[in-house]
Amino acid sequence: MIVEMRKQAPSEEINEVVLRAKSLGFSVQLNLGTDKTVIAILGGNTGQLSTDMFAVFPGVESVTRIMKPYKLASREFKPENTIVKVGKVEIGNKKITVMAGPCAVENIKQLEAAAKSVIDSGATILRGGAYKPRTSPFSFQGLEKVGLELLAEIKKKYQIPVVTEVVDPHAVELVAQYADILQVGTRNMQNFSLLTELGHIKHPVILKRGLANTVTEWLTAADYLLAGGNNNVILCERGIRTFEDSVRFSMDISSIAVIKKFSHLPIIVDPSHAAGHYSYVPAIARAAIAAGADGLLIEVHPNPKEALVDGLQSLTPSDFKRLMGEIKAIAEALGRSL
Ligand code: PEP
Ligand code: MN
Repeated sequence: MIVEMRKQAPSEEINEVVLRAKSLGFSVQLNLGTDKTVIAILGGNTGQLSTDMFAVFPGVESVTRIMKPYKLASREFKPENTIVKVGKVEIGNKKITVMAGPCAVENIKQLEAAAKSVIDSGATILRGGAYKPRTSPFSFQGLEKVGLELLAEIKKKYQIPVVTEVVDPHAVELVAQYADILQVGTRNMQNFSLLTELGHIKHPVILKRGLANTVTEWLTAADYLLAGGNNNVILCERGIRTFEDSVRFSMDISSIAVIKKFSHLPIIVDPSHAAGHYSYVPAIARAAIAAGADGLLIEVHPNPKEALVDGLQSLTPSDFKRLMGEIKAIAEALGRSL
């Protein structure tokens, strides 16, 4: 951490900062310039220290971090890529993983039709929400436990792993009895009691990026899962809120490269919630794979016109099939496969 003192700060003010740093167990290097002193505070975990601890002292002009606030999710901590295994599927390996299915589980007929079509097109994980975190309390909230039971039925019949969202720390145990992967939605990325609970299980967790969170905050949230002992963390970029209103959220394609640089965790992309409209989904999905994403999470509905949630952004089975062909070509051009 670098503490910059104001011009001509008296030695008493400088000493106060130095003593505080030493009392916290850090070592200190002083750079006495002609009219400004810069204090470098050095130690293993300055990334976890609040800058306020030094900014509060008189004479301090600015405090800048050099260490990242996240630790376990960083590539410094673990240089090699993490591969998350779900049955025979390996997320983060050479092969691209496509997870697809409806936004919400509505009934057995809908779920089965969705499962059949996405499996037929090459998806290896089925998605379907049983608990829906809706912006309005008056919107359909999901079938809850019944939805989990329907997912379990289809999972058994078609021998396909399933991913579903968990919204409440008290429901983690229940959802883990049915699902192979538990999803943390964008609105819960910083629900720390939920993350803590998910750190205590071994099931893979998809951690979606908060719609107004930085990559640094996202990786720091991932540290909650890793710190609890759950190493099976998959990041999912799903678009962020910007001033642009022609799409539901702006897909931050660059975050894929940033995550690959600073973290060992696999990253997948959800083009559906970013797009908000089915016609934009294929372009975003193709761009994500071209940018190096390890997989996709896509909403597919057997009949989007009848969908209870997110019908407008859901692909039809035939559009999904076409997209899978395009993704295959892009993956192969990059030395990967589908
Ligand atoms: C979802 O995947 O169904 C979902 C609600 O996504 P998000 O949390 O990204 O909005
Ligand atoms: Mn949805």
